[in-house]
Amino acid sequence: MATRDFSRLNGSFDLCIIGGGINGAGLARDAAMRGLSVALVEKGDFASGTSSQSSKLIHGGIRYLQNGDFKLVFEALHERWMLTKLAPHLVRPLQFLLPVLKSDPVQGLMLKAGLTLYDTLAGFHNIHGHRMLSRSQVLEAEPTLDTSQISSGAYYYDCQMNDSRLCLENVLSSMEHGAVCVNHAAVTEFVKAGPQLVGAVVQDRLSGATATVHFKVAVNATGPWSDQILRLSEPTPPKPRLRPSKGIHVVVPRRTSGEAMLVRTRDQRVIFVLPWGRYSLVGTTETEYRDDPDKVSASEDDVMYLLEELRRLFPSPAVDRKDVFGTFAGLRPLVDSSSLPAGKLSREHSIITETSGLLTVIGGKYTTYRVVARELADRVMERLHKPGASLTHTVPLYGGDTGPMPAFLARHLARAVSVTGLESTAEHVLRAYGSRADDVLRCCQEVPRGTERLCLHTDTMRGEVAYAFTTEMAQTVEDFMLRRTWIGYGECGGRDAWPAVREVLVDHLGRDADAMDAQWLDVNKRSGNVSNPAT
Ligand code: FAD
Repeated sequence: MATRDFSRLNGSFDLCIIGGGINGAGLARDAAMRGLSVALVEKGDFASGTSSQSSKLIHGGIRYLQNGDFKLVFEALHERWMLTKLAPHLVRPLQFLLPVLKSDPVQGLMLKAGLTLYDTLAGFHNIHGHRMLSRSQVLEAEPTLDTSQISSGAYYYDCQMNDSRLCLENVLSSMEHGAVCVNHAAVTEFVKAGPQLVGAVVQDRLSGATATVHFKVAVNATGPWSDQILRLSEPTPPKPRLRPSKGIHVVVPRRTSGEAMLVRTRDQRVIFVLPWGRYSLVGTTETEYRDDPDKVSASEDDVMYLLEELRRLFPSPAVDRKDVFGTFAGLRPLVDSSSLPAGKLSREHSIITETSGLLTVIGGKYTTYRVVARELADRVMERLHKPGASLTHTVPLYGGDTGPMPAFLARHLARAVSVTGLESTAEHVLRAYGSRADDVLRCCQEVPRGTERLCLHTDTMRGEVAYAFTTEMAQTVEDFMLRRTWIGYGECGGRDAWPAVREVLVDHLGRDADAMDAQWLDVNKRSGNVSNPAT
């Protein structure tokens, strides 16, 4: 059971990681598995920054082939395969329909060449080879596409993931290896010996308490916030390194009949229309962002851009503003390496040693987090003069010890159904928690009416509220509604589930009712659930 213990930060560690997004969480796991003493502090919830706002794809990034980023694509395709082994419950293969529009510059042989290269770069670890499709095959697959625009198409394959839970599982796994990880804890100041950093003052954003973490090495893994940390840490802060680029997604009623889709936009970008439970997740946009990273949100222009592209593809029934259930907005922490537009900037990561000794990591993709973590941990070991190689490729993630999912489901579904009473809730538990599903089912049995669904829009059960708060370090209503689960992004914005969530929090876990009500009011602001505001 992972518990948040802020007071444990008052101590000495080999490594202090600032930022609990996927890069910080991945590093915590890698370093703790090598035997280092590790502290990780995250000012919000784990994955509350960019790492819960992604397109939720573990992918090679087919569009980067156009930029000639072959090394990145090759590495990402290898990681795609690796993550299907390490976290099969959270990373699953997905078929993509790529409809070619008459206006697309890439057609026929050129498209075939690109997809062949993508398959080749995946090598023996490919999910499935691509298949070219005729116009009628595309329309048969997606009959509601605008028939007048389609010229041909193709199927290709990548993976879909649960970004916030994959990040969380890295945190939980690192804690099993001894790391001290604390969410809602922000670094506010550094302790220095001359120019060198030797400690960090951390503020508990829940209680207001402070702690001082002493460390031998510190890593700045704050993604879009990394320039802010540099302003605190460096004797002479360097000029901003980041060119943050905002990307948003909208959650709308399901538009595709099953597969994911990748389509070219009128301004020659690509967007995804992804199956996401009973919804479609549509995105993303790419616009320069210079404001405070804490304030990033989807603007009306961003939302309308995506809706117009969606209406162009699927003219009937046309998706309207009122059909948008929720929005995501995140910042790509891109390295400011050239004057190219954000869409053309490389997704390669960069690790910089600052004058103060701080290691800063920026850039990269979610997909390649394990590679970034390994490289960072290698650098830390070098600094500490300690031997030890990365083990993250050998040990499954926190709930990942399932083996192939179809066989796992076949083995465990009947028993899970005997506990939950419904096949859909049983399957949800097995897929969300993988090899930890039994712990969750036990917890659900201990909570009054714990195996009942929170509402009709979700398969999440009442007992999972207790599990999230007691075992997965959820601290606030938002942590539960937007990251341990995605209930807050759904069609009722979590409104229908809230009475049951509240009951478990207040009656079963003894939380203060007024505090919970106040936190609930904040959830809809963050989820962008404007069509169904909280009442
Ligand atoms: P973050 O996740 O932002 O983590 C940094 C953390 O630092 C934050 O949680 C923040 O709260 C914390 N922090 C800040 N200041 C402090 C402080 N003072 N003290 C303590 N903590 C602090 N990649 C893919 O591979 N696949 C995709 O489908 C994909 N889609 C994307 C879609 C969009 C719209 C965007 C924006 C990115 C996408 N990416 C994707 C890229 C990927 O999501 C990011 O590269 C990755 O999430 C970055 O993780 P990070 O840990 O560096 O940053």
